[in-house]
Amino acid sequence: MPDQAALEDLFRSHGFEDFKWFPPKDTVTGQWVRMKCLFGCPEYGKNGSCPPNTPPVEECARFFGEYKRGVIFRFEKKVKDPEERHAWTREVNARLSTLEREVFLMGKVKAFLLFMDSCTICPDCGGSRDKCKNPKKARPTAEAMAVDVYSTVLRAGYPVEVLADYEKAMNRYAFLLID
Ligand code: SF4
Repeated sequence: MPDQAALEDLFRSHGFEDFKWFPPKDTVTGQWVRMKCLFGCPEYGKNGSCPPNTPPVEECARFFGEYKRGVIFRFEKKVKDPEERHAWTREVNARLSTLEREVFLMGKVKAFLLFMDSCTICPDCGGSRDKCKNPKKARPTAEAMAVDVYSTVLRAGYPVEVLADYEKAMNRYAFLLID
C-alpha cells in the first residue's frame, strides 16, 4: 500500500513505536469473551463503552470483516496493582484518540480506534451510550467488541503470556482499524 510508510511515520511521530499491521477480517471473536464481560468484570453495565453498550458478538465479527487493514499497538508497563494502571491508560488512550483523528484526516474515513483499556475519559461515567458525556471520544476496547485478544495478537506475531502475578510487566493492546 503506497500510504503505509506515511501512516507508520505518523504513528511514530506520536511515540507509538511498537505496532504490527494485521488484517482485521482475521480478528478472532468469541461468545466466550462476552461471557467474561457478563460474569467477572465489574464494569459490565457501568461503563458506557463496555457491554451491554457494545453490539452483539455476531455484529462485532461483521464489523471487523469490513476492514482490510488495521494496526495493533502494544504497550507494556509494570504496576503493583492492576487498578493503578488507569492514569497511564487514560493518557495513552487520549493520545491514540488524537492519532485516530489524524488518520481520518488523511482520508481514511473508516478509521476507528479500540482503546487499550476501558474508557475512563470522565471521572464519573454515564454508564450507557445514551448517557455518555463524551460520545465523540468514547471508544470500546477490543475485549468489549468480543475480541479474543490473545489469539488475535498471537496471529499478528506478538508473543502472549498470561500474567500470574504483577511482578512482570503487563502488555496491553490497542487496535486501530483503518480501511
Ligand atoms: S466518555 Fe465518559 S461517559 Fe462516555 S463511556 Fe467514556 S467515561 Fe463513560
